[in-house]
This record gives sequence, structure tokens and C-alpha cells, in this order.
Amino acid sequence: MRVKLQDGTFVTCEPRPLGQGGVGRVFRTTDGRSVVKLFHHPTPELEKALPLIVGDYRRIADGTEWSELYRWPDAIVVEPTLGVRLPLVADGFHELSWLIFLKALASRPPSWRSWRSRVVIASAIASAVTRLHGSGLAHSDLSPRNIWVDPLTGRVTLIDIDGLVVPGVVPPQVLGTPEYIAPELLVKQARPSSTTDLHSLAVLIYQLLLYRHPLRGPRVCSPDPAEDDLVALGPDGLFVDHPSDASNRPVSEEWAGFWPTRLLGPQLMEMFSRAFVAGLRSPGARPPAGEWVHALVRLTDRVVACSSKRCPEGFLPLSDGVAPICPWCRTPLKLRKRTPVLHLYQGIGDHRYEPEPHWWIAGTEGRRIYPWHTAKGIAAATSMNARPIAEVEHDNGVWRLRNHELAELRVIRDGREHRVIPAGDSVALHDGLTLLLAAPPRGRAIIVSRFDL
Ligand SMILES: [Zn+2]
Repeated sequence: MRVKLQDGTFVTCEPRPLGQGGVGRVFRTTDGRSVVKLFHHPTPELEKALPLIVGDYRRIADGTEWSELYRWPDAIVVEPTLGVRLPLVADGFHELSWLIFLKALASRPPSWRSWRSRVVIASAIASAVTRLHGSGLAHSDLSPRNIWVDPLTGRVTLIDIDGLVVPGVVPPQVLGTPEYIAPELLVKQARPSSTTDLHSLAVLIYQLLLYRHPLRGPRVCSPDPAEDDLVALGPDGLFVDHPSDASNRPVSEEWAGFWPTRLLGPQLMEMFSRAFVAGLRSPGARPPAGEWVHALVRLTDRVVACSSKRCPEGFLPLSDGVAPICPWCRTPLKLRKRTPVLHLYQGIGDHRYEPEPHWWIAGTEGRRIYPWHTAKGIAAATSMNARPIAEVEHDNGVWRLRNHELAELRVIRDGREHRVIPAGDSVALHDGLTLLLAAPPRGRAIIVSRFDL
């Protein structure tokens, strides 16, 4: 089959569709590099939005790191019907649906199960959404079917970019699957927007980290399943981990596998509560996408390997006020003697520093320090492939920080610079050690203490 692009050129596609959805049919191009999506019923709004998405807004996906986060359409198809050409999703990527629930995950290779890559995936999804929202766009249909991930590396790509909500173009009223669409969309009191995206995003992050839907619990509101859904997922839904109403909390055998948000630390616990308590009725209360990135980057620094070789998830979070026991396999965590904790401090001018709220790094062996730790305003990478600039080592019973390529790693003593640790050298991480990672006023400092398990 031949399709005509807007610029007058032709592209040859395989005759049989790769897939068919509610919106259109997808064909692979014969060069094997792209797919073509032909819409069943193009609306005037879609005709108006597509040139903007394929045109100006395509800059959002410019650059290696960003281009991987989105499967951004690169051309408009005008014949036989309106459509778009899209890059093919790279090998190794799968629908996020496979990772969302433990049941689906059970049929996948064991290597797909790593709680650490779930945190990285959650953080990358939040970064991708932050970038869209920052340009005034909304995805409008964030769901596990529209997000593809590589479970081994934690890489993420958002698909269905052609459905973006673009400023100046009225979006259709309701889109998406009930589990992921915002309560106000479910009851048809709003149109898709960045605010409705924020509900979907919070649901996805919750599911990735805690393996269940935040509003699906034992509470039954109506004998009619459709009516029950509308209540459970709508503005009158009840968060399974509601701080003061436990009536939807999964407790019985049938609802096995309930993990409370406090396992993830006070910052994420408060954010989930804002998203699923106040945020169900007051969309403005939902945490913005950038705040999720912020919290998830901090969580990554507290993820440690489980002490059991048989742990299904392999990693667990360490959080203030939570006993260091693996939530997935119940094995108490064993850390090496005197494992350091690296507390981050932000410079606030005139060589004064204050603690970064909720930000400390578990200094386990091999822990990596990245550019975004060193100074304010550096965005975190969206995959596990980022290049570390320093690393924690354990050598002959001594904990050390190896400087790989930090230009200005300084030891501070009595408020003054004591010595510089050049790239390639290391410094022993003793209790109370203060390190300056970059120059003030944007640079951060680290103060070392010990784990007290
Ligand atoms: Zn475990």
C-alpha cells in the first residue's frame, strides 16, 4: 500500500495492518524504519492539531535523551486518509501493562522484576510529562497501553503523541480507560488537560511502586459493576491508603499484597495523599509532574539491594521512620558495618547551607553520585545509563568516595576549605566529614553520618 505525505512524497507500507485500535490502523513501512497510523474518523480538531504537533512542538523531542522519551510523529499522511508517520519503537520495549500488576508480571521473565527499575521508570514517565506540560501540552491519555518501557534498562517512551491536547484546539470530552482518567472526566465535568494528566500520572506512579490501583479496594458502593466503577474511580472514590478512613483498605487474604505509602518515605506519602484524597475532588491539589520527578530522584538514592538472594524484586526503599525490612520478602536488611549516609545540603549564599528536605543517599557499595546531586538546577537523567561523577567504595574495611570526574570536590573543616580531592583520587567517608561538591552559591555539600540499624 502506498500513502501520500503532506510534502507530496510517497511511502510504501506493508498491506496488512500491524494493529488496529479505536482511533486508527497501524501499518509498518516497507523500509522497516517507521509505522504509519491512519485515522478511522479524523475530526476537524485533529486536522488543526496535527500540523502543530508535527511542526513547532516537535522540538520537545529534540536531542538524544528527549527523542527517546516520545514516539513523536515526523510527518503527516494526507492519502488515503489523514494519518501520521511515526518512528518504530526500539527492540526491547514492551507495553507498561506487563509491569503494572504482579499477576501480569508472573508470566514474564524473572529479569523483568526489579523494584529499582520500577522507580527509574516512574521517574522517567514523570520527566516526559513534565516536559510536555512545560510547553503547554497535555498527553490526555496516559495509561499503561500508551507507555512503552524496557524493563531491563528502565528506559521509557510515550506513544500516542498524535492525541496531544494543543493550546487553542478544543480537545474531545472524554478519552482513555476509566482506571486512568481523572474523576472529573469520568463524570463529564471537564475536558482533558494537563490537570487531568496529573491524576493519570499519580495512578501510574502508585501502581509502579506499590503494585495496585490506588482506588481499588474491598469497598463496594453499588451492586451494578458499571455504577460501582463510577463511584470507586470518580470524585467519591476512596484512596486505599486514606490517612483517616480505612474502609477501602485491603486487609483480607483476597486482597493480599497491600503495601502502605509510608514505605516510600514522608515526601511521597504526603504527595499520594494530596493526589488521591484532596485531588479527587479538587484537581488543583494534585502534585505537578515536576514534583514527582523531584521526589522520585530522591527515592532512587535510598533504594538498596535486598539481603535475600531469593527476593523477587531484588531492591527495597529505605525511608525515615520505617524498619529496614524488605517489604516484598520480609528479609531484615543486613548492611556492611559502618555503612555511610550522605546528607545533602544546599548552598544559600555567603557559604551558608541548609539541609535538602528528604534528600539523603544510602552510601552502599557502588552508590553513584551524578551531576544533578552537585548543584541546583541540573536535571536528572531519565535512564540508568547516566554517567556517574563519583562513586562509593568499600576497601579493606574503609568506606571511601572515589572522585571520577568532579572538578571541585573539596573537604571542608572548621568552615574552611581543608583540601581538594582531584579526579581519580578518593576520600575516606568518616563520620561528620563535610564535602563540597560544587562552588557556591548553586553548589551542594554532603555531610556524612552512619546508618543506625
Ligand atoms: Zn526482599
